[in-house]
Amino acid sequence: MTPRKTKAFDSADRPKGSVHGPGMKAEKEAWGHPRPHEGEKRTRAALIDRDGVINEMVYYPDPGIVDSPFTPRQFVLAEGVGQALRTMRAAGYKLVLVSNQPSMAKKHMTMAAFRKIQAKMRRLLAAEGVSLDAEYYCFHHPQARVAAYKADCACRKPKPGMLLDAARDLGLDLGRSVMIGDGLYDVLAGKRAGCKTILVATLNGTLSQKMDELGAHPDLIARNVAEAADIVKKMAPGMPSR
Ligand SMILES: [Mg+2]
Ligand SMILES: [Zn+2]
Repeated sequence: MTPRKTKAFDSADRPKGSVHGPGMKAEKEAWGHPRPHEGEKRTRAALIDRDGVINEMVYYPDPGIVDSPFTPRQFVLAEGVGQALRTMRAAGYKLVLVSNQPSMAKKHMTMAAFRKIQAKMRRLLAAEGVSLDAEYYCFHHPQARVAAYKADCACRKPKPGMLLDAARDLGLDLGRSVMIGDGLYDVLAGKRAGCKTILVATLNGTLSQKMDELGAHPDLIARNVAEAADIVKKMAPGMPSR
């Protein structure tokens, strides 16, 4: 077995821990999603980016950057995300979050704040009648200001580590799964994992140029998460492997 570097579930507070601890299995079962039995049909999943898909991005006028929410208050669900997640679940997809979260590495926020934001996300989704099957986070950054998070890891998108971990942990068929994200790194990670890819974005000339530069051309582009979910629903019956 190859060493694992992805943080999954609540293993989040072990930034350097490269292997899931013995707590992993129990935790997963506590979530009610045990590993599928041998021979059980492998399942499809919507692998979903967090910032810009599940929740709105935040504009910080002082440095003039658009970034993740750094406080629970700044964490606001994207419009239509509850319905979108319910639609994909009803279409037979597991809902798996795969998120780069370098904010601690960059000293924008603490792990305690991240935990509060995570709790708020779960609460808001629960209020929408839906929950995620699993959450994977990469807390690393190659130029981290905090030594514990400084790593050229295998999990930070555009690398596919988190998606591959999810496939192994949850018994996913990546060829029948779809990566949904608002960034081209999401598209690249999805492609490298062998998934279909949907980019949530507004069409413009800059986007086209960036797609060419990165070689990151998604299978489809949706205007928002609701439209992405409708596409996924239509894909469901005969989505071909790639
Ligand atoms: Mg994003
Ligand atoms: Zn990582």
